[in-house]
Order: sequence, then structure tokens, then C-alpha cells
Amino acid sequence: MADPLLKVDGLQAWYGESHILHGVGIEVHEGEVVTLLGRNGAGKTTTLRAIMGLVGRRSGSIRFEGQELVAARSDRIARAGIALCPEERGIFASLDVTENLLLPPVVRPGGLSLDEIYALFPNLKERARSPGTRLSGGEQQMLAIARILRTGAKLLMLDEPTEGLAPVIVQQIGRTIREIKQRGFTILLVEQNFRFAQTVADRHYVMEHGRVVDAVNNAEMAGAMGRLHEYLGV
Ligand code: ATP
Repeated sequence: MADPLLKVDGLQAWYGESHILHGVGIEVHEGEVVTLLGRNGAGKTTTLRAIMGLVGRRSGSIRFEGQELVAARSDRIARAGIALCPEERGIFASLDVTENLLLPPVVRPGGLSLDEIYALFPNLKERARSPGTRLSGGEQQMLAIARILRTGAKLLMLDEPTEGLAPVIVQQIGRTIREIKQRGFTILLVEQNFRFAQTVADRHYVMEHGRVVDAVNNAEMAGAMGRLHEYLGV
């Protein structure tokens, strides 16, 4: 098997004096969709932020396409081809949809054009001139995902894209993630919604207290249900 696109080993991270990650290890292969599951506070968001270089201090290893990034700053990590779509989405209310889409800098070749993005997100095309304030929660989430497809990033890290959205919108987000995967992007997804994770991802890691405590692929899921319910409290 080819080397993983992303290989995280023994990742530790701190916010100030608080030691949050205690040796996280995950691998993501090119073209995969992988989720990080776990209860509130397990360290999922911190793992994405640590990979992106957005925590106070970190140690261990973060290899992306063979490059070691654990000591790199977030701008270099972005240029290497990793993008984070944060839980709070970060849509600029005063800018319209197109302006929001054009905002993140293109860091490498290989990103989608505006036309390709609008073909993938027809709803956003209809709202091209609407300001961020006029968008629903689901549209804002779509825009937050659409925006990072332009940058040339290869690995997209999505933090709880279904948070707070109605079931029909969650299904739409699921379809979008599957389409993005078909376009060749690789996705690392933080999810609380276990059922949703199952419908979009190839494999799952379970986190608890700043560590990965289990790993399951979709084929093993039926046999792993009991212990997953215990970890996730669902
Ligand atoms: P959630 O779904 O609640 O976001 P999570 O698994 O993503 O859960 P994290 O957000 O990574 O968990 O939080 C892990 C731990 O780090 C928690 O104990 C949290 O209180 C702590 N934490 C998160 N952000 C900070 C911060 N900026 N400063 C200090 N501690 C933090």
C-alpha cells in the first residue's frame, strides 16, 4: 500500500499550561474520508488545530506527503496543501457569496475554479450576490466547505460540518462530501453524529481524553457497534 498522505504519530498538544493531546496517532490515505469520533472534550478539534499549527505548543510527528510539519507555522502548512474548515465556519457577513468564495488565497495549483465550485454547489450559485448575513446555517456551511476547494489544498479538514443543521441539510452535506471525495480530495472529518459519519466515511478513529482509543472501518462497523456506543455514549 502507498504511504499515507497524512501520518500523525505521538502528537501532543498544549493550550498554555493545559496538556490536551497525549500522543495521537492517525493515518489518512489519499482519496479517503476518515472521521474522528468521540465525546465532547475528547480532543477532536484540538487534533485538527494541532495539525494546522494553531495550538500553542505541539510535539510528535505530522508528516504530509512525506514532509515533516510538526515544527512548521500554519501558513507553511496551508501551502503544503492542508486546509481547515472550522466549526464556527468563518463566513464574512458583509461580503456576498462570491466575495466569500474568493477570499482565501490560492496556495497551490489543483484547486477548483469558481465555475467548477458553482457547478458542485448550485444553491450557492443562485445566492451568488447574497450577503453572508442572508444565508441559512446550511448555506453557510456549504460556503465554508466550497471556499477551501479553491485553495489547492489536497487534505480538507472539516470540523463538525453537520452541527446544528436540520436532517435534510445534513443529508445534503453528506452528498457534497461524497462528491468532493469523487473529485479526488482527501477528507478528515470531526463528527459527533455517528450515523452521518457512517454514511460518508471509509474509516473512523475514536478519541477519548486526548488519545485515539479505537479504529474501525465501515466493513467492521456492525461488529464494533457495542463498544462504539460505549465510547460515544449514544
Ligand atoms: P467538542 O466537540 O466539544 O469540540 P472535542 O473533542 O473537539 O470536543 P476539543 O475542543 O479538542 O474537544 O477540547 C479538548 C479539551 O481541550 C477540552 O477539555 C477543552 O476544554 C480543552 N480546550 C479546548 N480549547 C481550549 C483552549 N483554547 N484553551 C484551553 N483549553 C482548551
